[in-house]
Amino acid sequence: MKKSILYLVIPCYNEEAMLGITTEQLKIKMTNLIKSGRIDKKSKVLYVNDGSKDKTWEIIEKTHEEDHLFAGVKLSRNRGHQNALLAGLMTAKKYADITISMDADLQDDIDVIDKMLDEYDNGCEIVYGVRSSRKKDTWFKRFTAESFYKLMHLMGVEVVFNHADCRLMSKKALDGLEQFEEVNLFLRGIVPQIGYKTGVAYYERNERVAGESKYPLKKMLKFAIDGITSFSIKPLSMIASLGFLMVFVSLIMLVYALIVKIIGNAVSGWTFIICSIWLVSGIQLLSLGIIGEYIGKIYNEVKHRPRYIIEEELIK
Ligand code: UDP
Ligand code: MG
Repeated sequence: MKKSILYLVIPCYNEEAMLGITTEQLKIKMTNLIKSGRIDKKSKVLYVNDGSKDKTWEIIEKTHEEDHLFAGVKLSRNRGHQNALLAGLMTAKKYADITISMDADLQDDIDVIDKMLDEYDNGCEIVYGVRSSRKKDTWFKRFTAESFYKLMHLMGVEVVFNHADCRLMSKKALDGLEQFEEVNLFLRGIVPQIGYKTGVAYYERNERVAGESKYPLKKMLKFAIDGITSFSIKPLSMIASLGFLMVFVSLIMLVYALIVKIIGNAVSGWTFIICSIWLVSGIQLLSLGIIGEYIGKIYNEVKHRPRYIIEEELIK
């Protein structure tokens, strides 16, 4: 059987403190995989420099010169983790049969690579790396991250629980990914839409050994909001539901105001004002909600997502 060429795709942003350690560990891992005949000797580690402001690119250049197992691509400026990852995957697709994406800090246990390759051998085109526990994350990171997955689920976005961007994708799956033309990239949401046979590989998540997190709270929040607004038009339809609720409340208020009037406690004009406020705000929200529904449709159209991806054809 022909051996598969594996490319590890690693986005790097200001990772000078980490790259040396990462390179050392991945070299051992890749050499072992090649020696044991698990992957083709043309396999590589592809670092993507996402416009780093430190010496990251110089280190990548030097590492590549010393050992061609390591390759690099340099983005013209910082485009963010998701875009850097996509750039790496699309570059790797030209040379590789399989890609595995990982973070430069190796917080994801690299032994997951073997488990992913097993799943690939079982016929999976996509294998999601899932964190089996988050014991080593801080309480805060764990809480925010898990709330994020729950919120996504509530908003109707299909994501794999506790799966970040550590995943195996075959060339076939990447061809599918290429057909998604959207600019607001949220890969965790897009990849499940590609389809094909998928699998899961569990791993322990470790602490970052060097350097600091490139995802501070502000970036995390932006990422979560991006994720929801790129995949769900639920917030828009929630406006319409709120409008309905307000109109309903206005009916109750109408009855209440009439009772108060009949009992005779109402100042003149009060009944009219109270009823109008509730009814008019209800109608306004409802109208906004209806406009929202149309905007939601336009939004889905402009994404130009592929309507289907054919897996197999039997035509003779
Ligand atoms: N990263 C990137 N561009 C950015 C921010 C981060 O390429 O603008 C990379 C970073 O180098 C790392 C990965 O994305 O390889 C994940 O970042 P990090 O480990 O800091 O996030 P955390 O694990 O803390 O969520
Ligand atoms: Mg990390």
